Amino acid sequence: MNCPKCKSADKIKKDILNGKQRYGCKSCGHHYTVMCKKTAKPDAMKQQILYLYLAGLGFRAIGRMLGVYPLQVIRSRVILRMSIAGYTCCQ
Ligand SMILES: [Zn+2]
Repeated sequence: MNCPKCKSADKIKKDILNGKQRYGCKSCGHHYTVMCKKTAKPDAMKQQILYLYLAGLGFRAIGRMLGVYPLQVIRSRVILRMSIAGYTCCQ
């Protein structure tokens, strides 16, 4: 996401506030938070995806069970991996 103030794409990661990554604009110094997409899946579904993945199910099987596309399963898995490693997403 570009800076909402000056529309510059030049940004650096700052801190995490309320579980959301904050960025700082290199051009104007404005700090901002990236908002979630409306299509973001709830945390409960992401945890369920992780549980099913750890149980040995594949992306396509999990997608069929939960009614999501396999790509969404992969994205959720990556987000969960980041949250386990200490990074937090926009949820
Ligand atoms: Zn800016």
